[in-house]
Amino acid sequence: MRFELKDRDGLARRCELTTPHGKLETPALLPVVNPNLSEVSPAALRDEFGFRAVITNAYIIRRSEGLAERALKEGVHRLLGFDGPIMTDSGTFQMRMYRDAEVTNAEIVSFQLAAGSDIATPLDLFTEPGEPLGKAESDWAETLGRYLEALALPNPKGALLALTVQGGSHLAVRRRAAGDLSALPAAVHPIGGVVPIMEGERYSLLADVIATAKAALPRGRPVHLFGAGHPLVIPLAVWLGCDLFDSSSYAKYAHDGRLLYPDGTRALADLEENPCPCPVCARHTPADLRALPPPERYLALARHNLHVLSAEMRKARQAIREGSVFELVESRARANPRLLEAVRRVALHADLLEEVEPASRTRALRYFDATSGVLPTVELARRRLLERAPLGEGEEAVLVAARGTPFSKRLPQGLAKLRRDAHVPLFFETLFGPVPEALEEVYPFAQHIAPQTLDAESASRVARATESYARRWPQGRLRRFEEAELGALRGAFRAPPLTQSARALAQVEATLAYQFGAGAASLLRGRAATIERSPRTGKVRTVWLDGRHVLSLRAHDGLFSLTFEGGGLLAKAVPAPRHRVAVVDDTAPFNAQGKNVFAPFVKSCDPDLRPGDEALVADEAGAIVAVGRMRLAPGEISSFGSGVAVDVRQGARSRRVPP
Ligand SMILES: [Zn+2]
Repeated sequence: MRFELKDRDGLARRCELTTPHGKLETPALLPVVNPNLSEVSPAALRDEFGFRAVITNAYIIRRSEGLAERALKEGVHRLLGFDGPIMTDSGTFQMRMYRDAEVTNAEIVSFQLAAGSDIATPLDLFTEPGEPLGKAESDWAETLGRYLEALALPNPKGALLALTVQGGSHLAVRRRAAGDLSALPAAVHPIGGVVPIMEGERYSLLADVIATAKAALPRGRPVHLFGAGHPLVIPLAVWLGCDLFDSSSYAKYAHDGRLLYPDGTRALADLEENPCPCPVCARHTPADLRALPPPERYLALARHNLHVLSAEMRKARQAIREGSVFELVESRARANPRLLEAVRRVALHADLLEEVEPASRTRALRYFDATSGVLPTVELARRRLLERAPLGEGEEAVLVAARGTPFSKRLPQGLAKLRRDAHVPLFFETLFGPVPEALEEVYPFAQHIAPQTLDAESASRVARATESYARRWPQGRLRRFEEAELGALRGAFRAPPLTQSARALAQVEATLAYQFGAGAASLLRGRAATIERSPRTGKVRTVWLDGRHVLSLRAHDGLFSLTFEGGGLLAKAVPAPRHRVAVVDDTAPFNAQGKNVFAPFVKSCDPDLRPGDEALVADEAGAIVAVGRMRLAPGEISSFGSGVAVDVRQGARSRRVPP
């Protein structure tokens, strides 16, 4: 199975899944096509609405004599008039409804494979959320046996199999199921049995179920949230790393006279004004729609629902590109209190999010209230400040509340005046803890927007972060700024203000320590440093040591990009395996020429690296052959069988000039 990660925002990811009928960009939603009556044809779903893949029901096709024959003779693609990827469902749900036991697992899977399905689904057992543990366990044992049977069937066209995680509301069974599936060959992994959970608006349980499955499944396999087709929950599921969705909701809701919206569902009967910008709603008022004959009205509502779903998937993919997935989740959560509860619940799954949390984002972090603290960036920055931004023995600094960025340009007047005459080291009290002035340009300190007055829970977190910092570095002293104490401060800080170049050097040292950890700043030691600043903004841009360009400070996140020379110096300053990605000797020469590191050729990797971190690419003997940025997280590299793991910037023999 070929599944490659192209772009990501934490667990949310844009990937490319290769199927026998072409590549599918994920996250993707597959509209359910009824083989008997498709009012909106599969070709229209693609051409008019932009859906690149569809799902249909093999059980219904097989039951209907004419369709079954054609599917076997011509294939399911000609049957539906659709040449893109087609997933087929086994009819677990229908068989349950009709209590039909006439089809065996082997028969329905063989039928799907013979009909040329791209993603075929075995007949699993579905555990309802209310059913007891014993039932969930025995259902799973039976289901796993059926998957083994399906995997043994001849599959000459190379269809992917959809092996579903079941377990009802029993997270331990879900975890075991996902673990069992990890041991099977790579497949698409639906998370099943969630429709009743979503219909009951039990979104916290939904978040638990998704996070539990994701944590136990190999990271490099596509995950499908089976039956999820409401735009309200799609951002939450994408944020938690779901790649595929399917929806019969567009048709079901249309039959009931209901319209899907990103913030919920509305009945046509209740609408006076319709704010939807889709072509259907732009042309027809709700009264027009109500006046249509039922078949036409159904079609109009189905088309509205499809437009909304299609827009939702575009929105999700764009949010991944721009690093705003969590913002989308938060805004959606404000439409439904239970969804908000689910978002906050995800704090219990912090480990899952943290292992893929990017080192920085191109977009500023929007912090609204304590809910925004669920995003791991907040806690990771707090921990890093605590460990990597020390207050040394006898050091004294003034702690002042951050009042917007840049912090040092928004000081109380008296303090600003004092600093014109004397060197007053500052720490800014922020959501992330006390930030030393030398780090004020680093992500997310300069790149976040928070209310001036925080909610009580966030304010108490700020206070706790400050306390734990003071406890961690008791040899130094942080004096909280108070206007009345200006006289005392004037007496305490008498040294002249730092020169611009001393400030720049302090920033370089502090940033190296914050970004690369203990010892990293020692790479400056004993070398003649030249720090080049932007002529326009005066900000640090490049660092030269002994006449060689070693570091570039990125304007958008205030962190360093390494040149190959810089990577060599860093490797001496921080011992292996820190910041290393070791590659096999066969491919190391290609990386040395500046080519990217592909996942299958990585031998080992520093487990503390995160997507977006700078990486030192080493050969098997430990020699640095290239520098670049992590695209995958360490835990993902071994499970993605293809695709780029590290975007190489410069190799030992690369001709490309680094940025
Ligand atoms: Zn509409």
